[in-house]
Amino acid sequence: EAKRLGRSRLCFFDPQLESRALARRNLELDLRRALGLRQFSLLYQPQKSISGNRISGFEALIRWDHPSRGRVSPVDFISLAEEIGEIHPIGEWVLKTACRQATTWDSQLSVAVNISPVQFENDDIVNVVAKALETSGLAPERLELEITESTLLGDSDEVMRRLWGIKAMGVSIAMDDFGTGYASLSYLNSFPFSKLKIDRTFLQQAEHSPRSKALMKAILSMGESLGMATVAEGVETLDQYEELSRGGCTTAQGYYIARPMAPEAIEEYLRSSRPTSLTLVK
Ligand code: C2E
Ligand code: MG
Ligand code: MG
Ligand code: MG
Repeated sequence: EAKRLGRSRLCFFDPQLESRALARRNLELDLRRALGLRQFSLLYQPQKSISGNRISGFEALIRWDHPSRGRVSPVDFISLAEEIGEIHPIGEWVLKTACRQATTWDSQLSVAVNISPVQFENDDIVNVVAKALETSGLAPERLELEITESTLLGDSDEVMRRLWGIKAMGVSIAMDDFGTGYASLSYLNSFPFSKLKIDRTFLQQAEHSPRSKALMKAILSMGESLGMATVAEGVETLDQYEELSRGGCTTAQGYYIARPMAPEAIEEYLRSSRPTSLTLVK
């Protein structure tokens, strides 16, 4: 009986498995064509300087408008793009597009671009960044690259050389999703990150757990001691914002500030979110 069951589980033509493999194959083919068909776009989410009480920049977040699936989240296609190598042309497009977009903004505003660990496996990444700056004319100081811990797991000598190469251009590097990995603290020693982006799960946990709250505060003061700006991701409420402000957090990003928006909406957003205090002074 057990043997029979075991064998039926190993059935080669599992129709469910078969269709899942087919769906993946189709998605893969669609992904390879998406760039040429101009199906990608970038949304921009504001980052607010807490002490300055003003918008300091935007993070570029990719979207894929698939003809039949609708808008596909990066969570659902970036890892596939990494597996099939498409992340290289897609990542290059993101960099170019974000840099070009940022040149239309006030020169005080920065743009943050997410870079996949796979992009750092290729030596070309340094040239890709340089080219995006050159063709757009964006001042390097206005560009920030967000990398995750896993970027530092690969061939770290090569990766370090690339990171330093990019830093030498004047571009800053932020550690994204900080606190979710395994050896976060030791990574802070290996490269001079200018920013720590604290993962939003931290903020969520801090609401219910005093220990998480203490940890959050410790991260904020550590960032300060090490001369790194701290960005809290996923700030959704006024309470969270005020707590971060008390803890000395530099920057806030999240639905409480604003949802990611289309580039066309930015100008109006900045106009309407400008602090009213200036007009109230006199
Ligand atoms: P991330 O870099 O950590 O970006 C933050 C994510 O949190 C974004 O999801 C953003 O829309 C979402 N978010 C922002 N504020 C809030 C909030 O208050 N509450 C909640 N619940 N969520 C919030 P999104 O746009 O779906 O992107 C997901 C991830 O996909 C990003 O995480 C990033 O790792 C990756 N990604 C996005 N764009 C790119 C890209 O151009 N290239 C690469 N390689 N990865 C990208
Ligand atoms: Mg990010
Ligand atoms: Mg993040
Ligand atoms: Mg995150």
